[in-house]
Amino acid sequence: MNETEFDFENRIISTEYHASDAEVELSLRPRSLDEYIGQSKAKENLKIYIDAARMRGESLDHVLLYGPPGLGKTTLSNIIAAEMGVNIHITSGPSIEKKGDLAALLTNLSEGDVLFIDEIHRMSRSIEEILYPAMEDYVLDLILGNGPSARSIRIDLPRFTLIGATTRAGQLTTPLRDRFGVLLKLELYTVDELATIVRRSAGILGMTITEDGAKELASRSRGTPRIANRLLKRVRDFAQVAGKEEIDQEITAYALGKLEIDELGLDNIDRRMLETIIKFYNGGPVGLETLAATVGEEAITLEDVYEPYLMQIGFLSRTPRGRCVTAPAYHHLGLPAPTPTQAAPTPGEQLALFGDEE
Ligand code: ADP
Repeated sequence: MNETEFDFENRIISTEYHASDAEVELSLRPRSLDEYIGQSKAKENLKIYIDAARMRGESLDHVLLYGPPGLGKTTLSNIIAAEMGVNIHITSGPSIEKKGDLAALLTNLSEGDVLFIDEIHRMSRSIEEILYPAMEDYVLDLILGNGPSARSIRIDLPRFTLIGATTRAGQLTTPLRDRFGVLLKLELYTVDELATIVRRSAGILGMTITEDGAKELASRSRGTPRIANRLLKRVRDFAQVAGKEEIDQEITAYALGKLEIDELGLDNIDRRMLETIIKFYNGGPVGLETLAATVGEEAITLEDVYEPYLMQIGFLSRTPRGRCVTAPAYHHLGLPAPTPTQAAPTPGEQLALFGDEE
């Protein structure tokens, strides 16, 4: 990526966690299922599983939460532990470097506890294998020593609940995925849901925001609560400097305009991505890797952070042959949409066209 052009770490709409989010995220994080806005499908099911486990006096089945970053997977895991009345131990796939790290985590659990592993798809395969018997039979198989004197011991574990969070369920190995009893997909939030989140956050932070202001902010937050909360903090700065008592639609639109976030929440990289497909690939299809190289971003970032929202608003479609920009995206960028005949034939289609002459 081109550092001088764009500082990804500090992008305002990045869905990744920023250090500056820490204090605010903690205070804004809903603590119960009732406070957790949206995701009604996941929430309804979860409520039933939690109630049933509690009635039986058992631990909750293992849960896999998947969906783009910033949608509330960590928040929901904390809520699950709170609703079950148990402790939560938090770790992440990349931070478990050795088998011993995971063994230590597992043996430290108490009956019913939640072990939350964020980015579980990034755990190494050999470490992951420890989880299979732990999840299935609540045992830990350890090999002590090396060579001929090595012996294996089996340690019983308390009945715990593993909650795995991932942005890419498809990257999980089948044996791991199959061991989760509950699979919950988190969806991007609607503008109304985000507006409710924004009003709740503003209340907690002691700010006043009008209905219109909350709607404006929500519609520029790409379906993601983390972004909505972050934009709210920035808009507050603009309102303060402008001497406004309350955050209204006007100051919200002004502030986000200054931050180069357009009415739909698209930033420079979204626009560059769409324009690249249009200018260099006639609107697509273009393969993800090729696109990433042209835009100067990592393919994984485009796939996890940008594409979900662009597809949600119907600006991008994924076809077996690659990514395509849709007519509404041309319109949004102020470019003339091609008529079907103008679209360049793909190499495959060209071959088919000339096939008869051979
Ligand atoms: P993830 O783990 O999916 O990356 P987080 O759980 O860290 O996302 O959520 C990011 C922030 O968004 C949280 O601190 C919280 O303030 C807010 N948030 C997420 N989901 C909700 C929700 N359903 N209702 C209200 N706020 C939410």
